[in-house]
Amino acid sequence: MTERSDSPAVRRLTDWDATRLESFIDAYGSPLYVLDLERVRENYRRLEAVFPDAEILYAVKANALGDVLTVLLEEGAGLECASAGEVQRALEAGASGSEVHYTAVNPPAQDLDWIVDAWNEHPELTVTAGSEDTIDRLADRGYDGRLCLRVNPGIGAGHHEKVQTGAAAKFGVPAERAVEVLRDAADRGFDVVGIHAHVGSGVSSDQLDDHREFVARMGGLAREVSEAIDGDGLEFVDVGGGFGVPYREDEEPLDLASVADATREALGEIDARLTIEPGRYFVADAGVLLTEVNTVKEARDTVVAGVDAGMTTLIRPAMYDAYHPIRNLTADAAEAAETAGSSAAEARETIPQTVAGPICESGDVFCSNRDLPASERGDVLAIGNAGAYGYEMANQYNSRPRPASVVRDGEAVRLSRRRETVEDVTRVEREARTVRD
Ligand SMILES: *Cc1c(COP(=O)(O)O)cnc(C)c1O
Repeated sequence: MTERSDSPAVRRLTDWDATRLESFIDAYGSPLYVLDLERVRENYRRLEAVFPDAEILYAVKANALGDVLTVLLEEGAGLECASAGEVQRALEAGASGSEVHYTAVNPPAQDLDWIVDAWNEHPELTVTAGSEDTIDRLADRGYDGRLCLRVNPGIGAGHHEKVQTGAAAKFGVPAERAVEVLRDAADRGFDVVGIHAHVGSGVSSDQLDDHREFVARMGGLAREVSEAIDGDGLEFVDVGGGFGVPYREDEEPLDLASVADATREALGEIDARLTIEPGRYFVADAGVLLTEVNTVKEARDTVVAGVDAGMTTLIRPAMYDAYHPIRNLTADAAEAAETAGSSAAEARETIPQTVAGPICESGDVFCSNRDLPASERGDVLAIGNAGAYGYEMANQYNSRPRPASVVRDGEAVRLSRRRETVEDVTRVEREARTVRD
């Protein structure tokens, strides 16, 4: 497959225009998430090109912003939703029932109530159950619609133990019990349409053998299930998401064509459609987080650059020890101006720095002792690959309002989420008081 020249396999943090990004802080304040919708489209098209006959669902939990859902629906993706809330957002973004898959993981009662109501209006939606209890609870609510079974293949993959879901006990029904569970569900009148597994996030080229083994098991299981169940057989085999993206500057992008080839080959002959459901792959390199330096201090072993974003804004470094590239936009913009001859700024010295947020937790650091241009108070830093699991995991710990987000689409830039205020943080408490009094 030839790479489209306007759609490189990866967009590095250094590919963004420093001056342009920095200007967003003047307009919208700091910290600020920036998401490039055109890059989301490019990522979708690149994946679609190597999986031309697969059904592609977007795992909404990576970034549930309405603009992202709209763009991916327009491109032809369906939406994989992890909660009733995500299903609600998917429908609000214009998804039809047949474009929505709801994956129930120990689903709270109110989620199932909501989903069954939504199914009455959208009978084409698909529910993926990960336990017999969930199937029973669906039946109790009168649901006998499209049912997919999440199986636990006993194989995990991913960049960190906490994202390896394939063997984690909380996900799915052990694969060896799948036939029995599905036969039973079919006998009870459910419309059994698929099997599903998701082995983890951050699957990389060097874990391709694990991926192959996992997909081969899914193919084998699909053939077994189709034989065991009367009727039309399975409609799809969903092998999940987990397509890795290079977070480190020296990491190569995933070789998509070989992942696609390996997937097809390992799956073998099946009388069902292949479904994949990546999240991170579409949005990670389409997003950056901008943050302003407010403190520079010499600590005992390092220089600390204190910034206004923290683990409440982007939790991945604190939660998964995740690496994110960091760039000093102010220094880079000054250097670009110098090269262009429009200013005479001194080149910044590069020194090891620890970039730390404002939260009272020692884990609240984005990097430790990393070589970066010497920070100055007022500099704007960009944290790269922040489009996936960034804002989605943001929270209000330390009574810190969540940041604003902007989307860029070609030359147009617009606010997509306003910055929260402390009023937003305390609203639920004030409202409880009103109800009580
Ligand atoms: C999180 C998740 C995905 C997407 O994972 P990525 O690593 O973002 O591709 C897909 N399917 C399920 C069931 C998930 O929980």
